Amino acid sequence: VPTTERTYDAIVIGAGSGGLTVAIGLAGFGRRVALVEASRVGGDCTNVGCVPSKRLIHLSGEPGARNDPAGVLAAVRATRNALSDEEDGKVSASEGIDLIRGRASLLPDRRVVVTGEQGERTLTARDVIVATGSRPRTLNIAGLPPERLLTNETLFEMERPPAHLAIVGAGPIGVEMACAFVRLGARVTLIDLAPRVLPMADPAASTTLEAALVDQGVSLRLETTVLGYDPTGEGLDVEGPDWRETLPGVGAVLVAIGRVPNTQGFGDALEVGPHGIAVNGWGRTSLRRVWAVGDVTPIAHQTHAANALGRRIVQRIALPWLPLGRKPPTIPSAVFSDPEVAWVGPTAGERRSRYHPRALVDLRVDLAGTDRGLTDGVRHGFVAVTAVRFTGRVVSATVVGPHAAELLPLLTFAVGRRTSLLRLQRLVHAYPTMAGAIGAVADEFARRTLPAIRAELVAYLRYRVLKGHPLRGRRHPFLGGRSAG
Ligand SMILES: Cc1cc2nc3c(=O)[nH]c(=O)nc-3n(C[C@H](O)[C@H](O)[C@H](O)COP(=O)(O)OP(=O)(O)OC[C@H]3O[C@@H](n4cnc5c(N)ncnc54)[C@H](O)[C@@H]3O)c2cc1C
Repeated sequence: VPTTERTYDAIVIGAGSGGLTVAIGLAGFGRRVALVEASRVGGDCTNVGCVPSKRLIHLSGEPGARNDPAGVLAAVRATRNALSDEEDGKVSASEGIDLIRGRASLLPDRRVVVTGEQGERTLTARDVIVATGSRPRTLNIAGLPPERLLTNETLFEMERPPAHLAIVGAGPIGVEMACAFVRLGARVTLIDLAPRVLPMADPAASTTLEAALVDQGVSLRLETTVLGYDPTGEGLDVEGPDWRETLPGVGAVLVAIGRVPNTQGFGDALEVGPHGIAVNGWGRTSLRRVWAVGDVTPIAHQTHAANALGRRIVQRIALPWLPLGRKPPTIPSAVFSDPEVAWVGPTAGERRSRYHPRALVDLRVDLAGTDRGLTDGVRHGFVAVTAVRFTGRVVSATVVGPHAAELLPLLTFAVGRRTSLLRLQRLVHAYPTMAGAIGAVADEFARRTLPAIRAELVAYLRYRVLKGHPLRGRRHPFLGGRSAG
């Protein structure tokens, strides 16, 4: 088949969350865009990620779901397929976007080679955007037949849940699916090498979620390794720090232990590290006019993060004269378990490296103690905020509870805009709402700070401005002109 060359303003490789944002955005500015997709439009989020998982979480909570798990899984696929077809139709009909089915790779001279059913084509463009996403990291479990090893790519194709589902990996996907499948009546064992679930969240969130998971009937095996599987007895052998156990009747194992970036075909042209294609805060790669976005980069692996970086890339390409914002946007994280866990800002470990421990104040309000928590019978959940002493600038926040992710925008705004809790304290919340707990946290800060304002000011100067070092204090007796939070 002869190789044909075709020139565009931009070639976007991958039609998932990141690629669609850039392709649709650039087409909106009148650019001629080639969008190359090797599989289904919508990528992981629509087809094997956010959409089917959130639909499953929703439907598994409906009355009667337990009696018809096969029906629930079929309904999940129906919703997913309808959205996927709709997105495909919209993109195919979109003026300014040529949807090209095939697998692309990038040459060091920035030409893009697409291999598809119609053979091989070479495309060129002023800008190339790599948005090829990621795939599940897998695990070799000795003795486990391949059809019993599930990932997010096969999980939603199951006709009915197994009687006992073992989930390896207690990250976002693992905990979300544990909650959904236990509601569908499956026995669920959640296994992780780490000592807590959601190791990327604040430890208090993990503790609360663990208690809730156990309440719901999920068996936890933390600090645990999978040794192998016996297909005859359907036994999964696992090992903890000082014990061994065979989990009986395990029909399938869902492996959710992380993601591998899809960088194959790009390593000759671009700088690629273990976590993906290296980019700056504007999606720029090591090669001029080649950009990367989404899960293929080391930046937060969530749809809204891909969307946010995609918009920045569109801005750089279509509106290069617009001034660059100094800071990348603040990206919140949300896990749709029961209860939901949502957080924004630096994690506990990152805070330790950035701040003197005495420069910060930790505040927490348990939802069970709020009026809305009482009316709704909330047992597990809290709003926790870490703020700078004296100024009250919100550094980070974690919310655990029903619809926790919906409470995050105000806190994300506060972290991104360096807002003080004293300012949030003046906000009036409707009564009774879970958001009222954010007001209660702000009240708590005011109660602790205002009566001791002089002591708090001294602590702020010492531990935040002078970072707690007396010598630095002597070298900088006058604090004017310093920027501190
Ligand atoms: C089970 C699960 C649940 C999730 N839930 C959430 C959630 O609730 N909220 C959230 O924000 N995030 C969630 N995520 C994460 C989210 O799905 C990803 O962060 C997001 O899809 C990344 O978008 P992307 O564009 O980088 O990659 P993708 O969406 O994976 O798209 C990449 C596309 O590129 C194509 N492609 C790959 N290589 C090539 C090639 N060489 N040539 C042509 N095409 C290629 C692929 O076929 C794919 O369509 C979830 C993920 C999973 C797995």
